Amino acid sequence: MDLYEYQARELLEEQGIPTPKAIFAQNSHEVAEAADQIGYPNVIKAQVKIGHRGQAGGVKLAKTRDESILASEDILPMTIHKHKVSGVLVAEAKNILHEYYVSISVDRSSRDFDVLATANGGTEVEEIAKEHPESVKRLHIDALDDFDLEAATKMAESIGFYHADVDQAAQILLKMWRCFKENDATLVEINPLAKIGDPDDESSKSLCALDAKISLDDNASFRHDGWKRFTDPIYVDPYEQKAREHGLHYVHLKGSVGVIGNGAGLVMSSLDAVSGAGEDQGTNVKPANFLDIGGGASAEVMSNSLGIVLSDPQVESVLINVYGGITSCEQVAKGILEALDELGSSKPIVVRFDGNAAAEGLNILAQAGRANLHVAQTMEEAAQQAARFAAKEVR
Ligand code: GDP
Ligand code: MN
Repeated sequence: MDLYEYQARELLEEQGIPTPKAIFAQNSHEVAEAADQIGYPNVIKAQVKIGHRGQAGGVKLAKTRDESILASEDILPMTIHKHKVSGVLVAEAKNILHEYYVSISVDRSSRDFDVLATANGGTEVEEIAKEHPESVKRLHIDALDDFDLEAATKMAESIGFYHADVDQAAQILLKMWRCFKENDATLVEINPLAKIGDPDDESSKSLCALDAKISLDDNASFRHDGWKRFTDPIYVDPYEQKAREHGLHYVHLKGSVGVIGNGAGLVMSSLDAVSGAGEDQGTNVKPANFLDIGGGASAEVMSNSLGIVLSDPQVESVLINVYGGITSCEQVAKGILEALDELGSSKPIVVRFDGNAAAEGLNILAQAGRANLHVAQTMEEAAQQAARFAAKEVR
């Protein structure tokens, strides 16, 4: 799950990373109140879960109350790179002397954590990184080693923080790491990590996180009370919401073939098979969702899953692809029949079983004699059939 800047800031603040004062607002009235509280000048910033807001006109400096309101009236109706603005952050404006970039992310290949950093941060960071790749440092934090102040100080030095900034940068790196670990994040990025203050007064200068981007690992949400505090106020997909309530891994997609399987890999292959079949048949039929019912695919789980998939009006057919393991295909077949009794849907369902008691499962389905229930021997065959049903080429 990606966080909005106003939410990500909270997590940085909890670790004691300096950020400008800021208030989230969703209409001009709230903006006016927030601006008076924050003071002038301030920065009005679009809240969208996508970067490059500055370049898209989503970050504006305002010197007065009227300018703050006008800026928010420009920004609130915006859609930036297909993301509708959910509100604005009214933030204290800082005098920027220099912009650094620092991020921590998961590195799946080396099974540790990447620290990417450059002394040339700001909105042009990607362009600068392309032209001067040597200016971007890629460092690592070992998952098992302690990352302490000494290690953080070495890292701050090698990143190229100017001498006077090294100690504070080391503190911030350490706090970013704690933020990353304690929140089960997959990304914590600060750009710019700005040096701010009065250029003529050395004692006024310090580092401050002027922007924050954080992604959280959805697999860890159970450890954080479901991250209820970060629920998106704009839009929650009702099918994804229902699936979450049942503890199912579901992602809503745009096609017309519902897909249910067990194991993320098998479900991904099923999605590919459906897309491939749609292309082969020249109908461009696509999967309507990803749904992984997991290892212990009981009858009840199957029933809940079919219920969610069939309640989606864009679904024209369903592909069920199950590899029997802990739960036998016999159990899954019973679940499918129970679900159909309950739901009474007549949409075509194509089932492919493999593994534990596959033949018995298919037999139960065949003997049930349901007109809309079809069985297939292979995944490709099942995907072809389901795609044809969705295209209404057979019925
Ligand atoms: P992004 O474009 O989505 O990454 O949004 P940022 O929050 O990073 O803002 C973009 C740019 O606006 C920054 O790189 C800064 O140059 C500028 N900016 C943001 N906040 C301030 C501020 O308080 N003072 C000044 N002078 N510039 C700011
Ligand atoms: Mn930024």
